[in-house]
Amino acid sequence: MITGKNHIGWQLYDKGDKLFKTFNPVSNQENKHDFYEASGEEINRAVDLAWDAFSSYQLVSGSSKSEFLNAIADEIESLGDELIETYCSESGLPAGRAMGERGRTIFQLRTFADLVKKGDWVEAHIDTAIPDRSPVPKPDLRKMMIPLGPVVVFGASNFPLAYSTAGGDTAAALAAGCPVIVKSHPMHAGTGELIASAIIKAAQRTGMPEGVFSNLNSSGIEVGVQLVRHPKVKAVGFTGSIRGGRALYDLAANREEPIPVFAEMGSVNPVVFLPKALDQRGTSLAKTYAGSVTLGTGQFCTNPGLLFGIKGSSLDNFISELAKEITAIEPGCMLHPNIIGAYESNKQKALTQEGLSLVAQYDDTIADNEARQAVTTVEGKTFLENPLLHQEVFGPFTMVVQCESKKELEEIIYRLEGQLTGTLIAEGTEANDYDGIVQALKNRVGRIIFNGVPTGVEVCPSMVHGGPYPASTDSRFTAVGINSIKRWVRPFSYQDWPNHLLPDALKNENPLGIVRLVNNQLSSEPF
Ligand code: NAP
Repeated sequence: MITGKNHIGWQLYDKGDKLFKTFNPVSNQENKHDFYEASGEEINRAVDLAWDAFSSYQLVSGSSKSEFLNAIADEIESLGDELIETYCSESGLPAGRAMGERGRTIFQLRTFADLVKKGDWVEAHIDTAIPDRSPVPKPDLRKMMIPLGPVVVFGASNFPLAYSTAGGDTAAALAAGCPVIVKSHPMHAGTGELIASAIIKAAQRTGMPEGVFSNLNSSGIEVGVQLVRHPKVKAVGFTGSIRGGRALYDLAANREEPIPVFAEMGSVNPVVFLPKALDQRGTSLAKTYAGSVTLGTGQFCTNPGLLFGIKGSSLDNFISELAKEITAIEPGCMLHPNIIGAYESNKQKALTQEGLSLVAQYDDTIADNEARQAVTTVEGKTFLENPLLHQEVFGPFTMVVQCESKKELEEIIYRLEGQLTGTLIAEGTEANDYDGIVQALKNRVGRIIFNGVPTGVEVCPSMVHGGPYPASTDSRFTAVGINSIKRWVRPFSYQDWPNHLLPDALKNENPLGIVRLVNNQLSSEPF
């Protein structure tokens, strides 16, 4: 049930005096519920509870955390149609997408449940003592990963489930042993509250400490700013715009005790079309890419916003086919009037840049909050000289950059800002002749795709969802897949610590039966 209140520990709070509503972009009207923005006092209460919960939650066993995460998944499943209807009414996204995203969210939770139950993820390393080593004895050293402390999670507007309240950041932080405070996204506060209530039910049912999870409403930046500044908050997860992520990163760096901010931000996801591929498959590639650019009305962080080719008749043909295909697609609704407003103004800003031409734009009648998808083009030299043309236009927008030569293309890729993905479209062994471009692309992205589209982020251990700044604030980590747990932990060593006082993961008898690196040998045996 949606109450519009803040879930702080086991209680509901509505002391704030600022109220707001969510918006249905399909019906073009506000939804019925009022949401109470968290007051300063309520924010402090949520953080204090998380801090207190940390002392016991960090010691909860892997199998109990696993039960908790599976219980969250079960509780989300039992929210049933109310969740799907609320999601659709707050995002304008269709029910099929809502169900797919719910499935993905549940899968992520269950994957982390399996990971922590197995227990190997703590990366236990044991180097036993050598008392008679000369010239000095070697101490007994044992290392494992331990949780950082309370984590604040900022959800994204475009993934109300999979990258929000119980999304990847929350699941990974809870799996690591960190209490979580979610700064709910104002565009889908009702969806967020339903999920928060599921997490809290699961926490109570599985005996987790009060404060292990709280959900705070907000309709502006103040709640997030207070949370990031709070001395008891030890890390931040963010999915959203470069501007928002950078502001929070700077805020965290300027605290008396700086803390890490793992921000997944915007990306234009360059795609390089090599000449032979365009010669042979230009028309079908145009169709595929029209679909990828407009998928979800272009509201994906992996949307292909920059397409590169070397000038010639094949590229000309590709551009005109892309224009034809993209304008034949029915326009879609965007998430919120603010998002469509930003799309239109960023598109116009791009179009006022010298040298950028509009190739095609959907120009039939559209409903409120629908976006006119657009294809633009620019010369390589102009693109290289104007960084404003490198910025993301969040929505169904793409820019074809026409390069004079392989050399110019390589130079442009080499000088691109960091990206989540890069894609190479090549025919046969054609890629062998473009090693410089491949290497340049590899240096700018977190994931490189061959003959595919960047949209679609598989959840599996080999996925890297991150990349050099500004795609993310720390390219050493991924925000998707089990390895995303590494953002919320730190390595910790015990030196000469008595066996009975060590955590189970490091005890001689290996009661958890996990794989460990013992004196440089992988082993799951006791010793
Ligand atoms: P957003 O405007 O940055 O908002 C994200 C959240 O951060 C909101 O809760 C917002 O709060 C808060 N926020 C923004 N600026 C802030 C500031 N200066 N101080 C404190 N809090 C701040 O992004 P969005 O519209 O939700 O998402 C769209 C963007 O996300 C696109 O650029 C897209 O590419 C990117 N994205 C990236 C990924 C990825 O994995 N890399 C995934 C999805 C989306 P308020 O709304 O309350 O102000």
